[in-house]
Amino acid sequence: MSIREEEPANINRGKKSLKTRLDLNDICLDEIHEECGVFGIYAAGKNVAEIIFYGLQALQHRGQESAGIAVSDGETILIYKDLGLVSSVFNEQNLAPLQGYIGIGHSRYSTKGKNVWKNSQPIFRTFKGQSFAIAHNGNLINTESLRKAQIKKGARFETTTDTEIIASLIETSEKENIEDAIKEAISKIKGSFSLLILTRDKLMAIRDPNGFRPMVLGLKGANFIIASETCAFDIIDAKFIREVDPGEFVIIDEDGLRSQMLLPVDRRSMCVFELIYFARPDSYIYKKNMYAVRHKMGEELAKEAPANADLVISVPDSGTPAAVGYSAASKIPYAEGFIKNRYIGRTFIQPSQDIREIGVRLKLNPLKDMIKDKRIVVVDDSIVRGNTSKQIVKMLYNAGVKEIHMRISSPPLVNPCFYGIDMATQTEFIANHRTVEDIRNYLGVDSLAYLSIDGLVRAIGEPKADFCFACFNGDYPVDISEIMKYDKFSIDDEDKLAGNLKKR
Ligand code: SF4
Repeated sequence: MSIREEEPANINRGKKSLKTRLDLNDICLDEIHEECGVFGIYAAGKNVAEIIFYGLQALQHRGQESAGIAVSDGETILIYKDLGLVSSVFNEQNLAPLQGYIGIGHSRYSTKGKNVWKNSQPIFRTFKGQSFAIAHNGNLINTESLRKAQIKKGARFETTTDTEIIASLIETSEKENIEDAIKEAISKIKGSFSLLILTRDKLMAIRDPNGFRPMVLGLKGANFIIASETCAFDIIDAKFIREVDPGEFVIIDEDGLRSQMLLPVDRRSMCVFELIYFARPDSYIYKKNMYAVRHKMGEELAKEAPANADLVISVPDSGTPAAVGYSAASKIPYAEGFIKNRYIGRTFIQPSQDIREIGVRLKLNPLKDMIKDKRIVVVDDSIVRGNTSKQIVKMLYNAGVKEIHMRISSPPLVNPCFYGIDMATQTEFIANHRTVEDIRNYLGVDSLAYLSIDGLVRAIGEPKADFCFACFNGDYPVDISEIMKYDKFSIDDEDKLAGNLKKR
């Protein structure tokens, strides 16, 4: 059996330009980033690379820094991956050689490990001479002790990702077969993980026992598909069957699908932010459409925090479903107040205050005639540091609005996420060191209100105990003491993480 995983040599991307290219969204906008999207399919007799390509495009919102596909034809695993959007990484030429009837794909946003080629996924390894590839959505919280233990055993790491630690645990297992090796590895890791593993003849999926990140099972004809979100099924006209349960281990091979509960579920804790913001509005979680859930968040917000206003507008696109819901419940008309530029790419310009301001204006431009001389309710999904909200307020006043009533369809963010979402450090959250009235003053709006946790739970319509609210209330469902300890080091430092922990 052979395996091929090469860094594309024909792509000219000088090191200097990589270092100086920055994402304008990152430097200018107060955005929150999801960590990754995964897509896997078993389709006997078919070539799956193109299907995975389309599936990944549907999951592009979950990670825009790199993309990769691994396929197996029953004998050989082939992998192609690179930095960039799915549509820029793949083309006819590099998809054509990816011949195989089983495959997994990954789109990545990096929070642990830099955005460099070697950190892109799927990652491949061998177990007792058998190749496997692995794709991960989530974030482990016990990486440092695992990495130390693995290095002690002689393991070497080529990347700085937590995913490679899982691959290494499988690779160095002394179990008889790969399924048992995976089970052993999974019993050692903690945190959030929705994992896809490809072997020569199997597609496997594992979801952590808390169910932090979504993972769904679908069917197209007789072919099973597993993806981060249901929107990836729609694009290839597949049928949503069910969610992969927290703690479940699914194996798909020539005998069909079998499943077992691998890990005891002490506490379900699906990330509530998937429902507020991350998951695509056309996806279903808990059999509920995300657009409809966000619409309800807006309705609850209107009940909790009414405003005397002429018009409801949203900060597009993520604030739109809640703004429409606010309008429906308050009977204040909804209108588009901003046009969003969806074509902003990467920039060579270093961040400065001027550039940050231009960045927001590049992305959002107010529709002056719609909002001039009006009392406006502006609905957004969250406030992180507050700098983007302040810019938006400034733009609206410059456009001639009379009053601004800002409404946020989530509670105040006060704690960082350790389970796969890149937000901000604790001190960066504006709500951590300011009251709502202070923030209102800072933003310069006439009124400001957030949706309460109870209002959020009412909008979701499911038991509060099934969700993680840690970034709002500090109740972390999985112990974070190890990651807190190591976070005082620069854990993105490539030299330290690439196997040199002893130097600390
Ligand atoms: S801390 Fe917040 S963002 Fe992170 S998993 Fe929990 S709810 Fe989601």
